[in-house]
Amino acid sequence: MTVAAEGTAKLPAFQRGVHPPQGKVFSADMPIKSLPAPPQVFMAMLQHTGAPCEPTVKSKDEVALGDVVGDCDAFVSAPVHASISGTAAMASVATLPNGRHVRTVPIKANGEQRTGEAMIDDVLGGEWSTRGIDAIDPDQIVTATRDAGLVGLGGAAFPTHVKLTRNEKTPIDTLLVNGCECEPYLTADYRLMLEYPAPVLAGALLAAKAVGARDVLIAVEDNKPMAIDTLRRAVRGGEVRIVEMKTKYPMGGEKQTILSALGRRVPTGGLPLDIGVVVVNVGTAAALARAVLRGKPLTHRVVTVTGPGIHQPKNLLVPIGTPYRALIDFCDGLTESAGRIIAGGPMMGFTLANLDVPVTKGTSGVVVLTGREVRQAGETQCVRCGRCADVCPLNLVATKIALAARSKDWLLAKRYHMAACMECGCCAYACPAKIPLVQLIRMGKVQMPRE
Ligand code: SF4
Ligand code: SF4
Repeated sequence: MTVAAEGTAKLPAFQRGVHPPQGKVFSADMPIKSLPAPPQVFMAMLQHTGAPCEPTVKSKDEVALGDVVGDCDAFVSAPVHASISGTAAMASVATLPNGRHVRTVPIKANGEQRTGEAMIDDVLGGEWSTRGIDAIDPDQIVTATRDAGLVGLGGAAFPTHVKLTRNEKTPIDTLLVNGCECEPYLTADYRLMLEYPAPVLAGALLAAKAVGARDVLIAVEDNKPMAIDTLRRAVRGGEVRIVEMKTKYPMGGEKQTILSALGRRVPTGGLPLDIGVVVVNVGTAAALARAVLRGKPLTHRVVTVTGPGIHQPKNLLVPIGTPYRALIDFCDGLTESAGRIIAGGPMMGFTLANLDVPVTKGTSGVVVLTGREVRQAGETQCVRCGRCADVCPLNLVATKIALAARSKDWLLAKRYHMAACMECGCCAYACPAKIPLVQLIRMGKVQMPRE
């Protein structure tokens, strides 16, 4: 691993994109607090990209915090671990906010829970020495990552061990840690970088060691100057470069971060590894450090509960599998003006119809907007203004794709590269006719027959 100089220049942004109101003020100053263990958690067997897990426990089995409760032999998959100690109940099916019906293993708490400062210390606090990382075998890092059930915590939930597995055909020179958190309202990554930079840096070095990257950088948007400052002060020996990115949505999209930070373009339909780059989110990096240096699985994650429709916005360390209702209750509930509850951010998240569904590994936030913020006006006809195409960071023509998806013309949808759409929502945000472009594209991707 070569030593890179600390970056100071602000990097140019990718072309297109939008500037939605940030809304981060609600929760940006709220330190991460531990959510008390709920009476019951629901461990979803599919909370990652790839093959679903099968339950490895049966009804009435006693489980301890961190025990495996679901697993799968497929390479692209990740085991699921109990996020509280308790008794497993009969597996049932839950509908997650993204509309997927998945098996879940309920666990009833048995009263012996670790919570509060002790839990935060266990997950994020304490010493994180980076000495000795150079001596760790890359395969050992990959194995620990897989055993810990680690997936991308930025939202995509792609199994991290798959990203970190070396492939001679695609050598990696750069490990990019994504701390942009460009989604409006969300501040979980921001608080993590500000309060716990040490596990983020340790995870970055571990990921770089696993893939053999020489250059290691953490990209942060310039609307988070305190996080940038904290990380720069925490870097010892200059082995990680902290780069300041312009604030623009969707700067946190892998392709946009890479283009802006490195000037390299991921080909359409390609992956960052095709151009020698692996990207991990800051939360993933911290969880990677915990998995490798402490041998602990992914059982908790930081979630922002925020928006003008919530009484006391907070950033919470949450046991995965906790029902959304428990998070909202812990934040003193909804205000009278609450209009829409969104799992994730307002640009890429999903409207929550049921508060009893569980938080999964990919849940970065819960945003409650007021009725006034939620657009009330109905959809009208396309006025052919071209704004959806003007703002698309991937140069796609959203109106054409959405029309093809609506009429189930899959040949046309393919011709307009529907599969390449990253569902960032810029097109829908910009559309004056309020056509639900991204929702139509999302639905089209699910409905399009597989080849
Ligand atoms: S077409 Fe897809 S990638 Fe382009 S702006 Fe719309 S949602 Fe984003
Ligand atoms: S932004 Fe909306 S109204 Fe304008 S061309 Fe696109 S779909 Fe049509």
